Amino acid sequence: MIGRFAPSPSGRMHLGNIFTALIAWLSVRSQDGKMLLRIEDLDPDRSKRAYIEALYEDLHWLGLDWDEEMPLQSKRDEVYRAHFDRLKTYPCYCTRNELHAANAPHVSDGRTVYAGTCRERLPQSTKKVPAWRVWVDPCEISFADGVFGNVTQELSREWGDFIVRRSDGVYAYQLAVVCDDALGGVTEVVRGCDLLSSTPAQIWLYRQFGYIPPKFYHVPLLVAPDGRRLSKREKDLDLAYLKEHFTPQELIGKLAFASHLADSDCPISASGLVSQFSWQKLKTEPIVIDKQFAV
Ligand code: GLU
Repeated sequence: MIGRFAPSPSGRMHLGNIFTALIAWLSVRSQDGKMLLRIEDLDPDRSKRAYIEALYEDLHWLGLDWDEEMPLQSKRDEVYRAHFDRLKTYPCYCTRNELHAANAPHVSDGRTVYAGTCRERLPQSTKKVPAWRVWVDPCEISFADGVFGNVTQELSREWGDFIVRRSDGVYAYQLAVVCDDALGGVTEVVRGCDLLSSTPAQIWLYRQFGYIPPKFYHVPLLVAPDGRRLSKREKDLDLAYLKEHFTPQELIGKLAFASHLADSDCPISASGLVSQFSWQKLKTEPIVIDKQFAV
């Protein structure tokens, strides 16, 4: 089996990414699989070289190693273009206001579903550079998530024609992640459950390209005691700060205890946890980060 870490270098690693990376690593190592690292620097405005350097250092510090590094996404334009060319796409000139019009359908996680306005619109010679959408006909996608169980979405209703290339020329995450995981031979994708609702659109892309989707495991969110999602802005939960107050073993022990992977809050290394790891121990309920991390 082949698993991967796919961090975005848009900030310092945060407790949520650390948890996801830990679980992805434990799953690979407990199956004697191969671990890939792919830095997802797709977004040129948000990705910073310094964060890429910090990612290598932080993963080493945590004791999470990898067997091979995949190319940076920023260097993969040609691969994405070749895949983009295989899809039925059309340019979209809609303005922000049109996209977020009050009557635009919304789905549960707040995304607006594209109404298909530009399907019939003739290419325009306006100054506006279009985004590109993929044409999605009615289609139901179901898959069995390794943690959350069966998920079904009617894609044209829950996504509509989604963007595969942004107006700034950057290929969309949905397209890039499918190309990279499929071509890298990834068989197991472990990531935060904020991406659970994107997975049917990705599975649909796998099928468009004739690739076999991997097994997906979405790990629960980390939340504050009041149920609020931990924000990336909380500096006391980023690794720069955490490193000053905890050893890697303390940090991993606390995460393992909070997520029911370990029975007590005792320092333990990532490799020390491998033999105790089981997907069955992970629940779908959000993991409450309480006083464990108070210093
Ligand atoms: N790059 C994404 C992140 O850092 C993860 C994408 C994925 O695992 O598919 O949240």
